[in-house]
Amino acid sequence: MKTKMLILGGTAESRQLASALDKRFGDGAHIISSLAGRTKNVPAIPGEVRVGGFGGKDGLSAYLKKENINLVIDATHPFAEQISNNAAYAANKTGVPRVLLQRPSWRLPENCDALFVPDMVEAASIVARTARKVFLTIGVNELAAFSHIPKVHFVVRMIEQPETEPPLDDFEIIYARPPFNINDEQKLMRQHDIDVLVTKASGGAATFAKIEAATNIGARIILIRRPPPPDGDIVSGIDGAVKWIEKSISLL
Ligand code: NAP
Repeated sequence: MKTKMLILGGTAESRQLASALDKRFGDGAHIISSLAGRTKNVPAIPGEVRVGGFGGKDGLSAYLKKENINLVIDATHPFAEQISNNAAYAANKTGVPRVLLQRPSWRLPENCDALFVPDMVEAASIVARTARKVFLTIGVNELAAFSHIPKVHFVVRMIEQPETEPPLDDFEIIYARPPFNINDEQKLMRQHDIDVLVTKASGGAATFAKIEAATNIGARIILIRRPPPPDGDIVSGIDGAVKWIEKSISLL
């Protein structure tokens, strides 16, 4: 019988994992990738793709049971705290093995001017006091904290056009999808005369270039600290996830 694997996705790693599992297990696996449905133009993913929330932690528990899911791989973004907590809860409740595929944290350059803050409100308060031109790479949902900050120009990077206008006084939007490279990042920050970069401390290679670029041009970096992961198994990297899955299958 096929092993039914649910990948909680919405990241480049989750798509890479779906490909790796498809290659590794072929017909032996039924791979389902789950997306929240926040972005419209999602790159192709091997296997089945389902879109939309489960209806909270109990909805996800019910889904795991109803669909006879054998394994759950949480490959969501490090800041997608709710779905990760729901996955940990649902796995515990149903007894379905679950693992968190964790993105490696960034190792910041020694000469960078970086400041870690707990949340967007703290970041916005520092921006209001110290910045002129800010590069905001925080996604569409967190912009409200930066509304009504006078005399600051925001360069906001997003993947897709937002449904509503950003709630900022003075801004421009740049549309782009990672990965990014250091030359382009540096050019962009120089072009816009950026003095502060605000970003989630998401980790991973695909977006690290902005940290190096900001360091090279002498811009200050405000990093929102990662939320702690829920309890349970953690692996880093696609190979680690595949190994965890191989071991878990042998124990099913
Ligand atoms: P979140 O706050 O942790 O989750 C909010 C709700 O969205 C969840 O309770 C769940 O709804 C639904 N949801 C989230 N991820 C889902 C998934 N993979 N499949 C099905 N439902 C999902 O999540 P978020 O921070 O809004 O992120 C949403 C998605 O975007 C995630 O899949 C994440 O990987 C991706 N993403 C997030 C960020 C970020 O900075 N947060 C950045 C890049 C990509 P129900 O309770 O109804 O099940």
